[in-house]
Amino acid sequence: MLKIGSHVSMGGSKMFLGSVEEALSYGATAFMIYTGAPQNTRRKAIEKMRINEGKELMREKGIEPQDVVVHAPYIMNLANPDPEKQKFAVEFLTDEVKRSAAMGVSQIVLHPGAHVKQGSEAAIGRIVEGLDKVFENTKNLDILIALETMSGKGTEVGRNFEEIRAIIDGVKDSHRLSVCFDTCHVHDAGYDIVNDFDGVVDEFDRIIGLDRISVLHINDSKNPKGASKDRHENLGFGYIGFDALNAIIHDERFAHLPKILETPYLPKTEEEKKRIYAPYKEEIEMIRKGEFNPELKNEIRQKHQ
Ligand code: FE
Ligand code: FE
Ligand code: ZN
Repeated sequence: MLKIGSHVSMGGSKMFLGSVEEALSYGATAFMIYTGAPQNTRRKAIEKMRINEGKELMREKGIEPQDVVVHAPYIMNLANPDPEKQKFAVEFLTDEVKRSAAMGVSQIVLHPGAHVKQGSEAAIGRIVEGLDKVFENTKNLDILIALETMSGKGTEVGRNFEEIRAIIDGVKDSHRLSVCFDTCHVHDAGYDIVNDFDGVVDEFDRIIGLDRISVLHINDSKNPKGASKDRHENLGFGYIGFDALNAIIHDERFAHLPKILETPYLPKTEEEKKRIYAPYKEEIEMIRKGEFNPELKNEIRQKHQ
């Protein structure tokens, strides 16, 4: 079975139950959630997240817990040079591990951090220190932290395979670390996944080890290879293109891993900036057929008229 889905929201009164329902409405077999808004760190109490009802629905519909992924809020920076802020990030991530364990999911995707002005080497040291503390705080919990491959925008750490390797090398409980391979980010970071995906995979295998990958983010990119921009595009509408992404999704080496779409919502019109319509049902259909639909955006808009 193809393990494909998208990020879904978790909020309102339905919380985790609503996330499962949203994923099912797209025909997904996997999904990713932020345990609250991705831009902030306010979170509801675990008891109010309607986890058991969500789990029950998953069982009924055949979504497996290992295909559900939590994404830590992207404003969190373990590399923050301000000790108070770093401490907060460690505490938040510790709670995130506990929330994930309560949901029965197996991994949390984490942006390694931003070095701000300290340079990536110092930042990697702080990230390692932070991760060590989080693992120390959650010794008995069997949750992976999946370091996401980043595009290299701003001062992001994790913009190449070597930086991810350096973090893994530094962390004591490194068996609790895995990697989230984001197609848009890897492409934007300068790896040629369009013409030489096998070469990129070999390089990843040599530097990090292929078996570290625990989840893939599937996004097209609005920018050419090496742009270091990180602007996601709908499948087939960007510089990576449908064929390259489709091949990655259906690659046997990753068949056992969840693949998560984080492609942009569509505005009502081209001019409008508001992100209204989720494209995931249609994109998942396209993936299952293995065929690009150039009319996809128009069709989604029309359907919602
Ligand atoms: Fe991410
Ligand atoms: Fe991503
Ligand atoms: Zn991104």
